[in-house]
Amino acid sequence: MSTPEPPPPLPPAKSACAACKHQRRRCAADCPLAPYFSADRQSDFANVHRLFGIKKVSKLLQSVAPRHRDDAAKSIVYEANLRAMHPVAGCFGAAAELRRQIQICEAELEIVSQNLAFLKQNNSFVVNNQETDFQIEENSNLQRFFNDLKPALADQ
Ligand SMILES: [Zn+2]
Repeated sequence: MSTPEPPPPLPPAKSACAACKHQRRRCAADCPLAPYFSADRQSDFANVHRLFGIKKVSKLLQSVAPRHRDDAAKSIVYEANLRAMHPVAGCFGAAAELRRQIQICEAELEIVSQNLAFLKQNNSFVVNNQETDFQIEENSNLQRFFNDLKPALADQ
């Protein structure tokens, strides 16, 4: 006597996307917002809804080519989350902060480049032992070091 096989387990029920959950409606298989606001992205959707509204976001996503919709949705979420975190400056504040960091990095790079050029020049001085009229404009420990070094090199 054979025992009947148990029926295959049912696939797990698809949970509504964050947008449909918010509107308390059933999430259809072709829900236009589901690809961008999965059920676990309630917070992202709440920020987007607060800043733009569902209709505006839907229209905006429909207005761009399908291949750009994912990027557009990411941009919308990014902007909404920044506005939620920084109500005054939003994206502008983030861009200004990044610009400030770039300026700091450029200034550091300029200093490092100058130091590198300076050290390369000094290295050729030591290696070639020819540039005896070498002058350093800045009053630094390196200048004292090279001033001490010059007589020693002259003795050789
Ligand atoms: Zn949905």
